[in-house]
Amino acid sequence: MTKTADSVWNECLSFIKDNIKPQAYKTWFEPIKPIKIAGEALTIQVPSKFFYEWLEEHYIKLLRVALMKQLGNDAKLIYDVRMENTYSSNRPQTVKIPSSNRNPLKSQNVTVPLETKNRELRNPFVIPGLQKVKIESQLNPNYNFNNFVEGDSNRLARSAGMAVANKPGGTSFNPLLIYGGVGLGKTHIAHAIGVEIKDKYPDKTVLYISSEKFTQQFIDSVKSNTRNDFIHFYQMIDVLIIDDVQFLSGKTGTQDVFFHIFNHLHQNGKQVILTSDKAPVDMQDIEQRLLSRFKWGLSAELQAPDYETRISILQNKLFRDGVEMPEEIVDYIAKNIKSNVRELEGVLISMIAQSSFNRREYTLELARQIVDKFVKNTKKEVSIDYIQKVVSKYFDMDVATLQSKTRKRHIVQARQLAMYFAKRMTKSSLASIGSQIGHRDHATVLHACKTVDNLTETDKLFRKYVDDLTKKLTF
Ligand code: ADP
Ligand code: MG
Repeated sequence: MTKTADSVWNECLSFIKDNIKPQAYKTWFEPIKPIKIAGEALTIQVPSKFFYEWLEEHYIKLLRVALMKQLGNDAKLIYDVRMENTYSSNRPQTVKIPSSNRNPLKSQNVTVPLETKNRELRNPFVIPGLQKVKIESQLNPNYNFNNFVEGDSNRLARSAGMAVANKPGGTSFNPLLIYGGVGLGKTHIAHAIGVEIKDKYPDKTVLYISSEKFTQQFIDSVKSNTRNDFIHFYQMIDVLIIDDVQFLSGKTGTQDVFFHIFNHLHQNGKQVILTSDKAPVDMQDIEQRLLSRFKWGLSAELQAPDYETRISILQNKLFRDGVEMPEEIVDYIAKNIKSNVRELEGVLISMIAQSSFNRREYTLELARQIVDKFVKNTKKEVSIDYIQKVVSKYFDMDVATLQSKTRKRHIVQARQLAMYFAKRMTKSSLASIGSQIGHRDHATVLHACKTVDNLTETDKLFRKYVDDLTKKLTF
């Protein structure tokens, strides 16, 4: 019997379906189309580069197992990625990317997505067309205004960005400088402006570039004696977006060339958009004349999002990923990750990944473990006394009962929970925890921790205890 792409893929799907949540299956596997099979290589089509990256990041193990069951140990997976085109051509392109880590045992070069490769080769050096010169905009379509959640913390930057996108070069926000701490959305807004402009004005030449890359290109151009080409290239651009200009600090040569490019663009009514992790006044080792240019337009600050905005960002992301998560967990994450949207997203993505790999449910306990990894130092130290009080109160007993020698099941459980939380939330040793909770030895505490771990996995009611207590002890 010959295998077809469809039959192989269907078998894979039924295996995958059994191993992940229905929601994740629906979101990440239903949209995939099997394209062809050649020997041990199956080609599947995925709707976007983002999709491909997500699969590689979150489901590669599962895919590998599924595929090896069907095609043997040499099974290969090739993605056919539909490219999102961010510049004028409207031909849909596809790019084939071999799965990068299908065999973790053999060392293997991680494949650079072709898209990136080509882009880098072509940029900044122009692709000569017949009449018109095409420049790849380097924009990431996943960063757009639609998925940039508005809140008090970003309203000014967001609306200034939209104003610029509506009339590039035609507002007084030129340059538009967006500044703020890490992970607050500077890069996202910078792309969003470019994406929006490309959408509204397909003929405008937009270029997004990081300051580091800009610097590198400049250095290369000096080495290869093409400094003038470099300047000329940048002077052709209608909308220049330079990310993280703080990296230019101390680099006088690059600042100098940027100053000339900037003046040229500005004089010709072209739009410049900059981001930085500092306000202009706080930028160090940036030439005064350049700083004064930065101040010509508008500097808009991105602040850390408030609680409501953090909730909206999380919900928005869940919605987009097609994931449902209990409200109290979203709330827990929003309350504990305060100053960085990237971390907020990171926690969600880890939650989703954990639950789909290990078939774990979304629990507060899982959220807590993941949040802890993100915010190491904010864990507040609670005392063992306090833990015993909270646990006793929760089970409606007094601390003396919790500590007593009795073997009554519910009291034993309460005591084990107290030990477990003491181990988790304090820096005390097992021995010291044991001596403070009813004079037990360290082996008893260790056993308690293991028991709680096991019961949390297997017993729903018990897990509720752990979740409730986690909440009481951490808020
Ligand atoms: P920065 O460049 O300021 O370090 P990024 O733009 O890279 O930050 O943002 C970090 C992550 O947070 C990105 O994935 C981005 O999409 C997301 N993000 C930031 N702000 C928002 C927002 N208001 N709404 C939705 N996503 C956001
Ligand atoms: Mg950034």
